Amino acid sequence: MKTDMAELRRKIIKVAGEGCMDFTGFASVDRFNGVHNRMRPEAHLNDAKCVVSIGIRYPLAMYENAGRTKAESYMSMDMYENNAMETALLQAAMDVARTLEDFGFNAVPITTKMYRVQPYKDIKECWTQDFRNDVAAVAAGHGELGFNGVVITPKYGTRQMFTSVVTDAPIDADKMYEGPALCDKCMKCVQACKMNAISSKDYDKVVVGDKNFYVVKKDKWRCMWSKKFMLNAEMGPRLHGMNVSVEPPKGEIAEDDVRKALSEKGQKGGLQTWYTYSMRECERECVPPHLRGVDLVKKYAKSAE
Ligand code: SF4
Repeated sequence: MKTDMAELRRKIIKVAGEGCMDFTGFASVDRFNGVHNRMRPEAHLNDAKCVVSIGIRYPLAMYENAGRTKAESYMSMDMYENNAMETALLQAAMDVARTLEDFGFNAVPITTKMYRVQPYKDIKECWTQDFRNDVAAVAAGHGELGFNGVVITPKYGTRQMFTSVVTDAPIDADKMYEGPALCDKCMKCVQACKMNAISSKDYDKVVVGDKNFYVVKKDKWRCMWSKKFMLNAEMGPRLHGMNVSVEPPKGEIAEDDVRKALSEKGQKGGLQTWYTYSMRECERECVPPHLRGVDLVKKYAKSAE
């Protein structure tokens, strides 16, 4: 019996919506033309034909207020970003994958925060993932890559997370975003990074389908020094009472430098080092031109429709 692909498409959107997803889009695999061959859809499923990109927005006031109000903490950001939102995303990806299987297609749900820390075989970079959820989101029409290398959507700017499902179901792709540029090179992202991990002078070209995005070169070890290992108290830990900052060496950072720094932080910072969070200010400071000064909660309130 021939599968009704329009019905499958509708069903996937419904299932993802029931799983709290704010974004569901479909990308053709040829749009991953600029991605390393170990990170392409076909690297996960030989006969891949489509990638479903799903995304969930942050609770908006939680995101804006974290560390900026009288509570002076990032506790909600930590728990909701790394637990509730993450779980909702992964669960929704699994539900989409199961829906595809119910229609007789193969599907591989992709994860979010797993990394190969060091270069691997023909992958020359460190801190890579086995799939580019950011490219998938752009390929599925959700938005564009900003100068900071982060997906910017016309609806929520940078205030969402994405994951993907690779499938051999030949579902029609959505159009890629064609509206006004979502990044106007305001450079707030570059100024916001206290680790000086991003350079305004060196760029990488990221190709998605027939579009080119120029994103700043990021020193990934310098970025992870704060974001992953929370070694810069100013980026968040200080507001939890964890005042230990360990300066990275000048120039290139190696894995050994991080190990030593973590040991120093553990010895000086005590138990509080278990309960800290680092804010990615290069993302929070990024608001696309048309959303600057806009109250997104009011803008999208159902009662305003
Ligand atoms: S902060 Fe400005 S320059 Fe950086 S990505 Fe956002 S809009 Fe672009």
